[in-house]
Amino acid sequence: MVNKVSRSAAVFALMVLMMFSGCEEKKDMTEHKKDVFAMDTYMMLKVYGENGDKVLMRAEKEIKELEGLFSVTDEKSDISRINKDGTAQTAEDTSNLIRKSLEYSELTEGALDITVYPVLREWGFTTGQYHIPDDSTVKELLKKVSYKNITVNDGTVTLAKNAEIDLGSVAKGYTSDRLCELFRNEGITSALVNLGGNVQAVGKKPDGSMWRVGVEDPKDNSNIVCTLEIEDKAVITSGNYERFFTGDDGRNYWHIIDPKTGRPADNGLISVTITGDSGTQCDALSTALFVMGTEKAMKFLSEHTEIDAVLIDNDMKVYITEGIERVTEFSEDYEHTVIKRQETA
Ligand code: ADP
Ligand code: MG
Repeated sequence: MVNKVSRSAAVFALMVLMMFSGCEEKKDMTEHKKDVFAMDTYMMLKVYGENGDKVLMRAEKEIKELEGLFSVTDEKSDISRINKDGTAQTAEDTSNLIRKSLEYSELTEGALDITVYPVLREWGFTTGQYHIPDDSTVKELLKKVSYKNITVNDGTVTLAKNAEIDLGSVAKGYTSDRLCELFRNEGITSALVNLGGNVQAVGKKPDGSMWRVGVEDPKDNSNIVCTLEIEDKAVITSGNYERFFTGDDGRNYWHIIDPKTGRPADNGLISVTITGDSGTQCDALSTALFVMGTEKAMKFLSEHTEIDAVLIDNDMKVYITEGIERVTEFSEDYEHTVIKRQETA
């Protein structure tokens, strides 16, 4: 008798549980959107679920705070203070991101170097006064350029040899990491942020399908080369078509600088898309692999299975790592070659 009662109690408890889990499945997945202009770019944030609007307000605040720390034009930012005084006590986000950038500089043998700023400025990319500097000016400025001139000690960042920092290559990736972290902490299970073409997703779409992110044709941005299907990942592109000017010599010059030459990196690649779990990592490596150029980037990818990539070279040849071949759909007219990983090569 006792047994029977406890069994029916157990059945009842199970039914209640099932009712509740049934309610869970039907939870509010209303779409909430917000457009933000910050870090010199248009940003689109999209989250699903109740509290969405409140979460988006906090996200905007987070973006503005990070912009206030990283901006090179805002005199009060951490980066401006470091550049002006040669040393400064910074917020945790700033010292963390600088420390991470230095790790990626080591990993990429200096292809990523956040001290290219004086050279970048000379070319006019931060001032809008675009021009081709003469070789001796570039040579002189390159003396200040080396990530080895930066030391981070807890929250204090110190520069040697009059170096100057600019976080343009990693700031948006770091920001999308922080936004996705905020969304997850707020219980959001489905969200997408697009920070000027840098995309990062939380979970899948609310209908359970994967997010689809297109890789633009660098020579014709009305065309999509391929579409990647992602879940909980970042997709970040560095291209020579995003920010460039045409010099008096009729050639184009773009905003990604080869730290070895002090000139726009021109080593075979015109678009590098990296996908992986961390926005910061994808942003750092998209810039770095663009600088490395075709051969070095392919070698790097064959050795680093933690990320996947789509590379497009000068001749519009497309290369893709084997890890994402299955989730990538190519548009007609675009042939591609698969980059094999070292263990299976
Ligand atoms: P975007 O900002 O267009 O998405 P990237 O992530 O590739 O593209 O970042 C380019 C920015 O990084 C430049 O505008 C400049 O501020 C900075 N930069 C340029 N060359 C380098 C380099 N070799 N290493 C680190 N930062 C760089
Ligand atoms: Mg980058």
